[in-house]
Amino acid sequence: MKSLVVANWKMNPPSFKEAKRLFAATKKAAESAKHTTVIVAPPAIFLRELSSAYRGKRISFALQNAHSEAGGAYTGEISLAQATDAGAAYVVIGHAERRAAGETNEDTRKKVAAALAMKITPILCVGESSRNHEGAHFALVKEQLRAGLSDVEPSGMKNLVVVYEPLWTIGAEKAMSPRDMHEMAIFIRKSVMELKGGTGMNTKILYGGSINESNVADMLRNGDVHGLLVGRASEDGEKFSALLQAIEHIA
Ligand code: PEP
Repeated sequence: MKSLVVANWKMNPPSFKEAKRLFAATKKAAESAKHTTVIVAPPAIFLRELSSAYRGKRISFALQNAHSEAGGAYTGEISLAQATDAGAAYVVIGHAERRAAGETNEDTRKKVAAALAMKITPILCVGESSRNHEGAHFALVKEQLRAGLSDVEPSGMKNLVVVYEPLWTIGAEKAMSPRDMHEMAIFIRKSVMELKGGTGMNTKILYGGSINESNVADMLRNGDVHGLLVGRASEDGEKFSALLQAIEHIA
């Protein structure tokens, strides 16, 4: 099965000129990565121009966030209809940086349901901001899953991606160990199947947090994940290319 790699550019780069350059490098890297499906999540303001100029098949586009309402008085927000119109096939929901800035489980519930209704694939991010010895993160992740998926019909579970991305591994020095991710992947799979039944088997589970060309192979081999959400290593064309090549070597 192909790995899924989400390139989350966050609020980078600063100009469209640089975004075009980064996209050109990403495109080149994606073309020789036959075992990976790449999803680029650029800043929303660059999305339409990048997607409309792209003629290939290997890259899809995602919005980093969208509002659940179809329209109205929501200054500064972007709707899912606008996202689709600009070329997005996916939307990232509940990224840890957004949760840290106040996004709630209730917001993610509405956004996931609205995305599925618009036929946009939700990429639902879950993960704790810190861990303690009592293992409270398991209950927290389960609650994030329960809330985020509560309006999803079991049949919708195949059109959905779950990313485990604890805030403490994002922008950090080290990724989580593949062994710990393996444990979490089993927990997520079990929780999703408890909530939605057998169709939860079809949901892709990814890991995100400080993945680069050196640790990607180990995570894919031993972390029990279908792919990765990548921040910093996707903001540099050479690093991203090295990361995709590392995946080719294990395929
Ligand atoms: C992210 O953007 O969610 C992320 C995982 O960032 P980084 O890879 O830089 O840790």
